[in-house]
Amino acid sequence: MPGTPTLSIVVPMRNEAKNLGPLHERLRAVLDRVGEPAEIVCVDDGSTDATLDMLRLVRAVDPRVKIVSLSRNFGKEVAIAAGLRYARGDAVVLMDADLQHPPELVERFVELWRQGFEMVFAQRTDRRLDSPLRRWLSKAFYRLFAVMSQTDLPPGAGDFRLMDRKVVDALNLLEERTRFTKGLYSWVGFKQIGVPYEVAERAEGGSRFNLLALWRLAVDGITAFSTLPLRVWSYLGLLVSAVALGYGAFIVVRTLLYGADLPGYPSLIVAIMLLSGVQLVGLGVMGEYVGRIFAEVKHRPLFLVREAVGFDGQPERGPEAAGSREPARLAPSPASSHAPEP
Ligand code: UDP
Ligand code: MG
Repeated sequence: MPGTPTLSIVVPMRNEAKNLGPLHERLRAVLDRVGEPAEIVCVDDGSTDATLDMLRLVRAVDPRVKIVSLSRNFGKEVAIAAGLRYARGDAVVLMDADLQHPPELVERFVELWRQGFEMVFAQRTDRRLDSPLRRWLSKAFYRLFAVMSQTDLPPGAGDFRLMDRKVVDALNLLEERTRFTKGLYSWVGFKQIGVPYEVAERAEGGSRFNLLALWRLAVDGITAFSTLPLRVWSYLGLLVSAVALGYGAFIVVRTLLYGADLPGYPSLIVAIMLLSGVQLVGLGVMGEYVGRIFAEVKHRPLFLVREAVGFDGQPERGPEAAGSREPARLAPSPASSHAPEP
């Protein structure tokens, strides 16, 4: 394909061999209708099945398909970051490989983009495909996140979206290793609009995210966008000290008035246990942040590329654009990656 594509479709995939055929089939139809020069940047995120072989097969029939194969599994957030660095389009669409994101919506995205919107995100209208527990946890997380971070996350918005080149360049500038992409989309700003859609059932296989992964994602999100958990300890400490002072004064007065007696063993134990518990939690929260600072200062590359197919000879674009031989410079967070609605 000569020249620079107008539209890039970035698809992170981990063990999606079975979904690739149908995905490509539907995407190709959509891209043909849209009629812009396009590329499909498939990021193979350390798949252990035949995903990479399948990708080569698909590329043989459709050279718009390009392949970035990461050296191991880095997690969806990082796979997305890699895809965004390789994408060359004036508009970049992010979508899952499992057909939960209907490719047909891309036409609507492009329409709105042509009208001047710089970020068009799909908003799922209901979550009935999620378990009740997952739905409840997700709601709790979003409420907590809103209170703690002063960053608005539009409800139901995930990674399925179109971004203008300006937005992609902005995202590529963000050097953080703990990548809570959903928060970053809001953080960069730009002219945004939501498009409602109904999320489909996963075509093949199960979700790659379990509750533990979602919990990590939630902690990543909050620590990356809020320092409230760090600061709250000084206030808690003040409060406890004030109560302790008051109680001390009370004991002194009572002893002066009524003399000393020796009960109080239970209250002593309770106070010791409660306070040591509170202190340990405080330390633990510090640890979460210090661990993330450590990950940032190590400045490891965010991802490593084993192979990039189809990008040769293209002019580099974007402030941090990574060529096929030079992987980008950001590093992964030790505990992070993944990105579904937590
Ligand atoms: N994915 C990835 N790396 C991972 C986990 C997932 O690239 O470590 C991809 C996966 O192949 C899919 C997308 O991210 O294209 C969404 O994953 P999944 O469907 O498992 O998440 P959910 O739909 O539950 O949010
Ligand atoms: Mg899915």
